[in-house]
Amino acid sequence: MRPENRADAVYDRVILGGRVIDPASNLDAVRNIGLLDGRIAVITTQAVRGRDTVDARGLVVAPGFIDLHTHGQTPETYRFYSLDGVTTSLELELGTSDVDAWYRERSAGERINYGVSIGHIKVRMAVMHDPGTFMPVSDGAYRVASPAQIGEIAKLMEIGLSEGAVDIGAGFPYTPAATRDELLAVFRIAAKRKTPVHVHITPGVAGLKEALSLASETNAPLHVAHINSSALAETPVMLEMIKDARAHGHDVTTEAYPYAAGMTEIQSATIQDIYKDAVDARLAELEWPPTGERLNRESFERYSRIGGPIVVHTNTEQMVAAAITNPLTIIASDAYWQNGTGHPRTTGTYSKVLGRYVREAHSLPLMEAIRKMTLMPAQRLEARVPAMRQKGRLQVGADADITIFDAARVMDSSTYREPSLSPVGIQHVIVDGVSVVANGQAVEGVAPGKAVRARIKSP
Ligand SMILES: [Zn+2]
Repeated sequence: MRPENRADAVYDRVILGGRVIDPASNLDAVRNIGLLDGRIAVITTQAVRGRDTVDARGLVVAPGFIDLHTHGQTPETYRFYSLDGVTTSLELELGTSDVDAWYRERSAGERINYGVSIGHIKVRMAVMHDPGTFMPVSDGAYRVASPAQIGEIAKLMEIGLSEGAVDIGAGFPYTPAATRDELLAVFRIAAKRKTPVHVHITPGVAGLKEALSLASETNAPLHVAHINSSALAETPVMLEMIKDARAHGHDVTTEAYPYAAGMTEIQSATIQDIYKDAVDARLAELEWPPTGERLNRESFERYSRIGGPIVVHTNTEQMVAAAITNPLTIIASDAYWQNGTGHPRTTGTYSKVLGRYVREAHSLPLMEAIRKMTLMPAQRLEARVPAMRQKGRLQVGADADITIFDAARVMDSSTYREPSLSPVGIQHVIVDGVSVVANGQAVEGVAPGKAVRARIKSP
């Protein structure tokens, strides 16, 4: 007899009396949950017993949040993400050039689940021998690849997929010398392998048109990264373009993060190409995080020689709200953390959406917010990554990745000056049945997180 049918069953852990929300079934009701062997074994109105008990009365019990876009993939950042309710953290935009090595480095286990794409940017850096550490700063960005080099890039992308990469990553503003032929080669591989290309597009309507045309010409699935920062004032029209493409049968999805400023590396092509020749007044859009100062020509040139992350103030709260509350957008943090500092979205994306847009502004229903954080990202990847069919749901048989929060209190705390502060109201986070956050505090010495990886085939 399966344990969920036995009145005398003792589960590994039970979660009692919470408001259970499952966007896959639209369940929103008080239930008790029993976890066994890393899975959800029972969801019931009956009493259940466990070796360990989480009192969830007055709290929301949701599937663990799945973040498709996180640049920090270290124990330090996995800890940040877990405190914000994230149970699966994927680096799908930049990705890696060596998928096997990336997973091997984490094979001892991490605090939360992890995964990576084969990244066009990273592969191009390898093939073009770019000396940049995080993003291309030389030939990886600025040199046109020869046909032989394009062939080498394509070969490495194929190998990455064969090694189980979650999908393909790309970022056109980071590789301005990549020709349409080179990008078509990447999209053709995506179409053949039925894998989404997770693209940081060239900003604006023209950039979205370029990505949509590459996708429709090759029939590749397309995921448009951070529509908020790629669209800015054009957010409503670009969301309409994506809606139209979907209505015409194209497999296009998008994501957003809830902050009006972006962040990237000051030495990257996307910053240098815009601000090197911009009128001096525009440099005030840039903030140097260690000091909080807005830049001028002199400080821009000085910090460009030093390198490091830069805050980019180019969006409005109104456009951010348009992106976050649109039914198309998945919530994804674009978490960014380098050398002990980074963007507050690293630590506060999910709690900010739940606090600001759901509770304070009433501009997003709780069920829809949770759908954007759980079911939608899982569904985006499940064609290629079968493990995702067991995530993003609170159902019997699903993975026991669960986030429990106080909807009346949840809110981010981080700022651009102090980006490492923990949010409030994220009370318990469970990964594979194991508590990684308890009573709002990180549990130390646990590493239940597993690799999220596509099926591995020989090329
Ligand atoms: Zn990006």
